[in-house]
Amino acid sequence: MDEIVNLDRTYILPFYSRFGIGFYKGKGAYLYGYDGRKYLDFTSGIGVLNFGHSHPAITREIKKQASKLLTTSNLFYSEERVKLAKKIIDITFDGGVFLSNSGAEANEAAIKIARFFGKTISKDKYKILSLTGSFHGRTLATITATGQKKYQKNLEPLPEGFDYVEYNNVEDLERKMDENVCVVFLESIQGEGGIRPLSDEFVAKVKELKKKYNFLIVFDEVQTGVGRTGKYFGYMNFDIEPDMVTLAKAIGGGVPVGATVLRREYFNVCEPGMHASTMGGNQLASAVALKVLELLSDDVLKHVNKMGELIMNELEILKSKYDFIKEIRGKGLMIGVDLDSRVEVIGVVKKLMERGILTLRAGENVLRLLPPFVITEKEIDIFIRNLTEVFRSM
Ligand SMILES: *Cc1c(COP(=O)(O)O)cnc(C)c1O
Repeated sequence: MDEIVNLDRTYILPFYSRFGIGFYKGKGAYLYGYDGRKYLDFTSGIGVLNFGHSHPAITREIKKQASKLLTTSNLFYSEERVKLAKKIIDITFDGGVFLSNSGAEANEAAIKIARFFGKTISKDKYKILSLTGSFHGRTLATITATGQKKYQKNLEPLPEGFDYVEYNNVEDLERKMDENVCVVFLESIQGEGGIRPLSDEFVAKVKELKKKYNFLIVFDEVQTGVGRTGKYFGYMNFDIEPDMVTLAKAIGGGVPVGATVLRREYFNVCEPGMHASTMGGNQLASAVALKVLELLSDDVLKHVNKMGELIMNELEILKSKYDFIKEIRGKGLMIGVDLDSRVEVIGVVKKLMERGILTLRAGENVLRLLPPFVITEKEIDIFIRNLTEVFRSM
């Protein structure tokens, strides 16, 4: 382990602060550390491994496709690519898909498509609205769409034409809205922002304003998609039909995949040469993503909702005991425990880690839970017992 830490500090650019552990193997909801310990994983690689580590069907598909064909570029047709695209459309809405390799790329494509769309109406229709506290990626355009100043530090000048609406504030939305807005970016539940769900009222106002101002509605489902919130996609928790949906994280089951889904009526804004990705939609990624989506079913979602409710109920009991817990938020297996300033969330994460349980932080001071869907009542019990003891010690 010391050797790995040394090499990391020497040869990896210091953009990350890491915890002092690492893993050599994963199986289901468990990770096996270099320290010889077994860890219960409530992070799923930050919402990536929704079906758990080393899922046999996904592992089999990777092996099968790797021994057949990895990639041929987007110059040629591919059966794997079109099968994945059709599957995504079957479970979202009628349209088409641009395939890439990450969430930032999926959102970057959405930003470009929105600008192309705007230009079909007027040269000034380029304004991009997103919400405060949002997170959309780390490229220069997606970090500008990200409504959190801390990520934009020292990157100025940022691309022009972006503005921010205060999260869930209907009046602020009306204030920032005009005919030059080409797109509004939403997350059904803000993930990095601290497990903060959109309100029905805000979504209804976006829908209403679209009729007057003719902009695209994008749901960034990079973290909320692929069953995480107990529905196939997070937007399905609301009465709305988006024009675009962006996907990444879980759709690849651990293999890098991004996808930008666009409603069919906007096909005309896309032309050959306007956008591209060398590895986007490669055979390996496409075959694996298709397998991931085939694993997703009503039965799986039923389990996600049942386990999610179990965790939420247990957390509500804890909330009634410990007044430093401000609020329990979330849907399905995307859950946040909002703590007040008396308890630092990073301390909770570290103490749980010492006890062999991996969790995440988000937002200001929120404990974020993203367990894999293979989680059972027994493991939830272990988690709650340990969390209770950690809270008791604070
Ligand atoms: C993680 C995340 C992204 C960025 O995805 P990357 O694959 O890291 O580029 C974008 N949007 C949301 C909502 C995310 O959670």
